[in-house]
Amino acid sequence: MTSGPDLAGMSRDRACSVARTVEILSDAWMFLVLRESFFGARRFEQFQHILKLPRNTLVVRLRKLTELGLMRKEGYSTAQGRYEYRLTEMGRDLYPTMLSLMRFGDDWLGQGETLPLQLIHRRCGKRCSPVVACSACNASVGAREVDYRPGPGAGDHAREVDRKRSRRASDPAILERVRPCSVARSLQIIGDRWTFLLIRELFFGVRRFDDFASNLGIASNILTDRLQRLTAHGIIGKHAYQTRPDRFEYRFTERGLDLYGPMIVMMRWGDRWLSGGKPPLLLRHRPCGQDFFARVLCSECHHELDPKEMQYELRYSLA
Ligand SMILES: [Zn+2]
Ligand SMILES: [Zn+2]
Repeated sequence: MTSGPDLAGMSRDRACSVARTVEILSDAWMFLVLRESFFGARRFEQFQHILKLPRNTLVVRLRKLTELGLMRKEGYSTAQGRYEYRLTEMGRDLYPTMLSLMRFGDDWLGQGETLPLQLIHRRCGKRCSPVVACSACNASVGAREVDYRPGPGAGDHAREVDRKRSRRASDPAILERVRPCSVARSLQIIGDRWTFLLIRELFFGVRRFDDFASNLGIASNILTDRLQRLTAHGIIGKHAYQTRPDRFEYRFTERGLDLYGPMIVMMRWGDRWLSGGKPPLLLRHRPCGQDFFARVLCSECHHELDPKEMQYELRYSLA
């Protein structure tokens, strides 16, 4: 059993279920189509009407989501070309990921305004917020309470979803199109591939520039840029650990540590759907002493939040 920092020396190829998940979510349009599906959009015209995106862009994203197995196309009428796009089980299972990113955005990125979206859990009838919890003991999980060890899929190379596209940062203007959205705000911070990989290394206990550079094989100018951006967003702080010559290390702020919940929720999804049954990393919850995966529970009744049992109060009007 090792705790986080002991894995710091693993190579840049460390197989990672979170990275696989982010590569899907960080395409702004795919993310928006998924989000509207959770809100009940089914038909091509509905997506197009709500998102106001070019027909061909929508065609391509729906096709991609279908190919990835996140959505399926079903005929809803005998008339030709009448189809609905529905989330598959794999697609619906991204709901906890959306919720955990929404919670992070609500807590840290809303700049004091009212929440764009209030969740109501029909099961308990209460307004609630999503809580990332341990599957074994149901207690919420903090970043400093988890031990890691390599799982059966450790060392497998990540299947790249689309290398070229995934390196481009999501376009913030696209992500907040139509709806103000805390999930989108979170993805603006972590949705860029390199930023996301840096955050992952930080959770593994890596702190120094040279270690990031060698673990990730990232060019220095890109690394400098991403570290500056994370500092500007208040996710990490820069601390001197030596003077003459001055040397610095980077550590999470409280805000940054709160990304741990979304990270382990995304990891669960990637483990379940993209690891071929071989999770690269196993987590143990120190307070209960058991192996666990992350679940997203209702803050009020502590049951798992299921998209079929949710209602939403929109705090904004659709453009
Ligand atoms: Zn536990
Ligand atoms: Zn509830």
